[in-house]
Amino acid sequence: MSLSAVWTDVDLEAPGRQVGFIRVEHSVHRSAYGTIPIPFAVFANGQGPTLLLMAGSHGDEYEGQLALTRLIREIDVGRIHGRILVLPAANRPAVAAGQRTSPLDDGNLNRSFGDSYTDTPTGCIAAFIAEELFSHCDAILDLHSGGSSLDHLSCSYADLGTDKVMAQRTFAALEAMNAPFSWAQPGCPSGPVAGRAALRKGAIHLSGEFGGGGRLKHDAFEVAERCIYRVLDHFGILAMEEKWRVETPTRFVFNIQDHFVYAPQAGVLESLVKLGDTVEAGQLAGYLHRPESPWEAPLELRFRTDGIVSVIRTMGRSREGDCLFQLLGETEREEILAAMENLA
Ligand SMILES: [Zn+2]
Repeated sequence: MSLSAVWTDVDLEAPGRQVGFIRVEHSVHRSAYGTIPIPFAVFANGQGPTLLLMAGSHGDEYEGQLALTRLIREIDVGRIHGRILVLPAANRPAVAAGQRTSPLDDGNLNRSFGDSYTDTPTGCIAAFIAEELFSHCDAILDLHSGGSSLDHLSCSYADLGTDKVMAQRTFAALEAMNAPFSWAQPGCPSGPVAGRAALRKGAIHLSGEFGGGGRLKHDAFEVAERCIYRVLDHFGILAMEEKWRVETPTRFVFNIQDHFVYAPQAGVLESLVKLGDTVEAGQLAGYLHRPESPWEAPLELRFRTDGIVSVIRTMGRSREGDCLFQLLGETEREEILAAMENLA
């Protein structure tokens, strides 16, 4: 067997409980033959589908990381039918630093799944995840939050793709997660995100935004765990506990470019809305203040469309181009079903 720049000591085909590492070669002054050890677990028992659970793609998004570390400690492998792959700290250098991007190369793991991979630690991690893990998976659940700069409404997410059967299977899984907001995004992502790589490998891509603001939010943590255990149950891999069985109302949402409000200039953000508020086109979202020129009136920020407030920037000081707000548009379940019927 030849040497590789990225490898794992975890055997994907072995039954039972395995907890080890994916190792990325990282040769530096203080460690010539050093590696980045990325924690990786595989739980397999009997026949059934394979699901990858992933968090820590962004290091400052904590709900998913903690939900998956708890799952690794507590899961009963004997109850599994199929296989669960778990990556609780996918971009470990970013996770250890509590940062969105890797301190080693500034790499944003969830922007590293393009048509080719960079020859950097983050690029190598993306290549391994897409080429060696996604290719074994029936489905992927990648857990995110708004990170340090944004607070995010807790919602599950799915890329429906362009294939009718796949879109219907994906939507069924999204619905099964039963989050308070179910974000069904039509089509394939155009950016170099994990969803694009997952669809390319023929795997269902599920994700979610759970909290944000650079800290752990308990209500968001609970929604993240709810999505994890309900989707494991949906795929028949692990029967969920009684506490996750109770159905709660969900609202179906989607996102378009007009839902975003960006800072037209530098300033300090004053938000006039809360996450979950329903707003109208033209409504005042907040102000950008410029204390360095106190004689100027604050700049009014207005929403361009109707929607539900899903993102608010948590850092006061903002620069031109920063995302200050994002809305999600509400839709009906029947409209999503009808749109999927029109796919080939
Ligand atoms: Zn993220």
